Amino acid sequence: VSGATFINAPDADYADAEQRDRALQSIQWVRQRLGKRYQPLIDGVYVATDAHIDSLNPSNFSEIVGQVGLINVEQADRAIQAAKAASLGWQKTPATERASILHTAANLMTQRRDELAAWMVFETGKPLNEANGEVSEAIDFCRYYADEMERLDAGVAYDFPGETNHYHYQALGIVVVISPWNFPLAIPTGMAVAALVAGNCVLLKPAETSSVIIAKLTEILVEAGIPQGVFQYVPGKGATVGAHLVKHPQTNMITFTGSQEVGCRIYADAAILQPGQKHLKRVVAEMGGKNAIIVDESADLDQAVQGVVQSAFGYSGQKCSACSRVIVLEPIYDLFLQRLVEATRSLNLGRADHPSTRVGPVIDAAARDRILEYIEKGRQECELALEMPSLEGGYFVGPVIFHDVPPTATIAREEIFGPVLAVMRAQSFVEALELANGTQFALTGGLYSRTPSHIEQARADFEVGNLYINRGITGAIVARQPFGGFKLSGVGSKAGGPDYLLQFLEPRVVTENI
Ligand code: GLU
Repeated sequence: VSGATFINAPDADYADAEQRDRALQSIQWVRQRLGKRYQPLIDGVYVATDAHIDSLNPSNFSEIVGQVGLINVEQADRAIQAAKAASLGWQKTPATERASILHTAANLMTQRRDELAAWMVFETGKPLNEANGEVSEAIDFCRYYADEMERLDAGVAYDFPGETNHYHYQALGIVVVISPWNFPLAIPTGMAVAALVAGNCVLLKPAETSSVIIAKLTEILVEAGIPQGVFQYVPGKGATVGAHLVKHPQTNMITFTGSQEVGCRIYADAAILQPGQKHLKRVVAEMGGKNAIIVDESADLDQAVQGVVQSAFGYSGQKCSACSRVIVLEPIYDLFLQRLVEATRSLNLGRADHPSTRVGPVIDAAARDRILEYIEKGRQECELALEMPSLEGGYFVGPVIFHDVPPTATIAREEIFGPVLAVMRAQSFVEALELANGTQFALTGGLYSRTPSHIEQARADFEVGNLYINRGITGAIVARQPFGGFKLSGVGSKAGGPDYLLQFLEPRVVTENI
């Protein structure tokens, strides 16, 4: 069955001088607006808070991108009551009206494309060209889920002589969205608008390091016409406010993207029935990866080197889809390694707001220190092939490659979420596949090969949610590569795919005897 009817939003084209200049002007425009204060949105009102955090520019941590107010537990309770009050009205709002708010939001994002990309550059250290693609993805999520809801809203008639049977969907109620910083606009937009268009009220708690961007998303949803109490922006501490929202007897679903540790805790906490709770909660948890690309002796090495470099070091490896292991067949191992090292050496490390930067900083000091510890571990357990120097002033970590990494090494097993790549040697294709599958994760994987039998075997036996053959393994596109993993990578849900909205809905059947 062909599913390819959706038209994706095009990225801005920076090869065009006019579009490039507009993007660079937006960087300057946003630079002049750094350091402002942003408040949570509860029941349609921006509220004062006792506490706030400074969201810093990872490329230059002396620069405050914005100060964001943090709600307390009492304010979280007020938000839940506001959602409860808005819930029925929103559920009864026709799906076409809900969908049209998403289309308006997509149009506003299109108008503000360069500005949104610039906020990502400053707040999360994402190089401009990657931030550009992310705005497109956020727009796609709005338009795709709007279309999907209109499709599902029709329901299904299973009529029979003497009776009508109408199968249809209704919203769950209140959805808590706990979003990550690494795709600071696209992922929260996708999770929130899916829940909203399905008729749920949403409380969005962003990662602290990307909460200014979510203040911008909030502005857009409000301008698009989302009613009071239906969408609320609730930045707060994960350990207190986040945990409270997860455990609250009136929240129906938690949708989370982030670390395995937090995802598993949410899964467990949401399973416990609280006093007064009259439903079971759903959890969608999207967690980590330890993704591998296999390069066999028939691969086009130019293509393979480029794909591995982009997949491993794009956004400094801070994608759950990133390549952190490359498994190379013996006959081409030495040649591939040499070319990989040379190609990586040519990457430009620098501030994310410089147009020539290919690898920017990592998100914060804790991430930098954790990655440096992994590099130290790697040095003890494996052989270094390349260590690029870091820069001062921001949270920079230069790309690092280890070679002849054994499958038992820490850096071959644990998710690092940084610019660290393990190159592993395999004697046969079967062994390569075993190495690739030998982790607790199953998110993305890749194969570079021109051998049909290898391609067939990988299609059948490479245990990942998203397998990419003869291309890089990041950058899934809405309605083209529905994205998500299984095993300990996630619950098997696919963002940007035809099953995604069903998670935010419950089906009912009404039978009438006639
Ligand atoms: N969807 C993104 C990609 O395909 C990855 C999302 C993530 O890192 O959470 O690269």
